[in-house]
Amino acid sequence: MPDKPIASISRTRQILRQYDLRPKKGYGQNFLVDVSVVARTAEASHCEGAVIEVGPGIGSLTEQLALRSRHVTAYEIDERLKPVLEDTLSPYDNVEVLFQDFLSADLHQKVQELQQAWGRVVFAANLPYYLTSAILFRIFAEGEDLSYLTVMVQKEVAQRFSARPGSADYSALSVESQALYDISSLFTVPPGAFAPSPKVDSAVVQFHRRPGTSADAGFDQLVRGCFAQRRKTIYNNLRSVLQDGEKAEAVLQVCGIAPDRRPQQLQVEEFLRLYEEVSRL
Ligand code: SAM
Repeated sequence: MPDKPIASISRTRQILRQYDLRPKKGYGQNFLVDVSVVARTAEASHCEGAVIEVGPGIGSLTEQLALRSRHVTAYEIDERLKPVLEDTLSPYDNVEVLFQDFLSADLHQKVQELQQAWGRVVFAANLPYYLTSAILFRIFAEGEDLSYLTVMVQKEVAQRFSARPGSADYSALSVESQALYDISSLFTVPPGAFAPSPKVDSAVVQFHRRPGTSADAGFDQLVRGCFAQRRKTIYNNLRSVLQDGEKAEAVLQVCGIAPDRRPQQLQVEEFLRLYEEVSRL
């Protein structure tokens, strides 16, 4: 095993120099250079079985996950990192790096495969911030068997997960997070823990999938559809989702939801109820 963790400042600098690697802003490349933050994140992730990571970068978090789990599957979009990761992760034979866009991967299939081979599968990542919502929506819809998600995100985004109805931060992301998961904020991370440093504070948040929720990809579509036009009423949004005004009216009536309410005024339970009725159509 190499003497210094990949996440140490000296080792990261050496790797970037050796491969003449300039972090790509367009891919959200802010590499973690604080060993204790990386180790704490991995330690909290429940990764003893298999773990899926998005964006290994130069391998900082991947290394700490590999040290604690039976298997790591990491998706990386940036092909420049191929020789780097082959080198930095060479001491770990339990890591598989797939060079592909996570958003185009068959997540459901991968989770089943890992579950059969290794037992419990979890997700852990220092997310590329420009794709936070897209990645989480994908997991909410397709990753029902990922029992824990441990993610580093922008601190202000972390607050949105638990936002209450009526607040400006309440969105489809809040509804789906709260409907499907118990959410805990683990710790905050200052800009200095990354190279290059982002302009914002970050936070590590953990989602624990609540067993028995009936919500799935259809729930994701419904909730996002209902928030497509925040200023419009729930009736107008639902009519667009169902492409049928009469059905929208009937569903709202059965659920006891006034059609002139705005989507951001509805409780999480009301969205779950709506989904139940829409599924019956
Ligand atoms: N895990 C590393 C760390 O903590 O130092 C790097 C995290 S960096 C914030 C985000 C990583 O996600 C980068 O390596 C970037 O290339 C990768 N990435 C960005 N978009 C991606 C996508 N659509 N699919 C897979 N990886 C992606």
